[in-house]
Amino acid sequence: MEKLKNYINGQWIDSTSESTLKVLNPATQEVLALVPEGNGADVALAAEAAHQGFQEWRATPVSKRVQYLFKLKTLLENNLDDIARTIVLESGKTFVEAKAEMVRAIENVENACGVPTLIQGEFSEDIAKGIDEYMIRQPLGVCACIAPFNFPGMITFWFLPYALACGNSYIIKPSEKVPLTMTKIVTLMEQLDLPKGVLNLVQGGREVVDALLEHPVIKGISFVGSSAVAKYVYSKGAAHGKRVQAQGGAKNPVIVLPDADIDMTTQIVIDSVYGCAGQRCLAASTIVTVGEHKEFTESLVESTKSRKTGFGLDSDVLMGPVITAESKNRVKHLIDKGLHEGGRLLVDGRDPRIEGYENGNFIQPTIIEDIPLNGELAATEIFGPVLSLVHINTVDEAIRFINGGKYGNMACIFTSSGLNARKFRHEAEAGNIGINIGVAAPVAQFPFSGWKESFYGDLHGQGKHAVEFFTQTKVVIERWLKEWTRKF
Ligand code: NAD
Repeated sequence: MEKLKNYINGQWIDSTSESTLKVLNPATQEVLALVPEGNGADVALAAEAAHQGFQEWRATPVSKRVQYLFKLKTLLENNLDDIARTIVLESGKTFVEAKAEMVRAIENVENACGVPTLIQGEFSEDIAKGIDEYMIRQPLGVCACIAPFNFPGMITFWFLPYALACGNSYIIKPSEKVPLTMTKIVTLMEQLDLPKGVLNLVQGGREVVDALLEHPVIKGISFVGSSAVAKYVYSKGAAHGKRVQAQGGAKNPVIVLPDADIDMTTQIVIDSVYGCAGQRCLAASTIVTVGEHKEFTESLVESTKSRKTGFGLDSDVLMGPVITAESKNRVKHLIDKGLHEGGRLLVDGRDPRIEGYENGNFIQPTIIEDIPLNGELAATEIFGPVLSLVHINTVDEAIRFINGGKYGNMACIFTSSGLNARKFRHEAEAGNIGINIGVAAPVAQFPFSGWKESFYGDLHGQGKHAVEFFTQTKVVIERWLKEWTRKF
């Protein structure tokens, strides 16, 4: 059984940690590899290598740095299917979903190729007589990304290409549940011939996270994961003087007004709820109908029942398993909790039998109706293929319900009324808003804007925010007087 290694200073080396975890295929429980739990000594080695690598990298002109990214784009495109297959094997999503996530990753590489322009400073001539003032952007130094399991390839790319283009060196800490994808990508990236120490990968879990948060040469931390850990990473990172951006969990509501197009809305909502088996931070979770809803509810039920669940590499499969057996139990427990609170099952996917994959962590698409708006299920991130359906009388009440929630990652509305859409856009408390859109995922040039407990920090991932995050501003005030000029 392969034991994964760390990539430090341009070499694959064994972790100094003896303990390992199993990387499992969620559709079969087959052991794919062993991943070291990692420790502070691994992080110290990576941090030192990255610190050395930074000295050369920051002195490399930005126009040269982005040449590596142009090559990276082609490398990822040429290996898209291979990377996607690895994503399917370790995360359980479908091949189409896995390819789609890598397309989003590549978009960020493309966008970061624009850093020579995005990193430009500002200049004011004559702020006083004979004095000019300007601002330049310089890299932070060593930065690191701590990633979640649900997008094994994409999420690191919300940060990595910008960090490198801006002149930082980097340490990747993939989720210990899905370490194979980034291991494969870093193996491919060896072909870029980056200077040693510029790119590093440390495998592991909590101990590695703590060491990254504590190590003095690490200046910036980008975290994506659950809110409890995001808050922990944000406060501990700040306590150690680091710049931190920490994206957390979500509970995304979608309002459907009676004037929405039923067929289109059904299709989009169903894809949003059940895509990636509901394990997306932008998965629609609570569907809130306003006013008349009978026809829409029937349409949701019909579409939910027809969604094929199975192994992500099999044809026609639209939804895979959830990540672990514990996740499956947790989701089932939450459904039971909703029933206990007074909800009703319209579609029950709790105990499916998927032929040939009896050991997989499968839950089939499930709809639970009429859970109490102030209950536990309505407030809890499920992270599984469960649609909670609630009915409310007015748009104002629906917006009040949304704004009462603790998360603020995404909120969507389906309507043909521009006025209601505009009111929603203005009043809904979420960082990513969808209007007749089911997954309001910002493209690479926009920030991934979570609010409330979905984000801790200031500057988000992607786009200009990433360039600001990975640079520090230096303001120079300069005086040159005529009187000092020597005659030649
Ligand atoms: P997680 O919080 O369990 O793990 C995320 C990372 O933190 C992993 O690398 C893990 O090794 C590390 N970690 C876990 N527990 C830790 C601890 N106690 N101390 C230190 N480090 C720890 O998240 P997950 O289950 O991998 O991912 C799912 C969560 O991520 C969901 O809540 C989802 O909404 C969220 N998510 C958010 C976004 C976003 O953009 N806001 C995107 C994707 C996923």
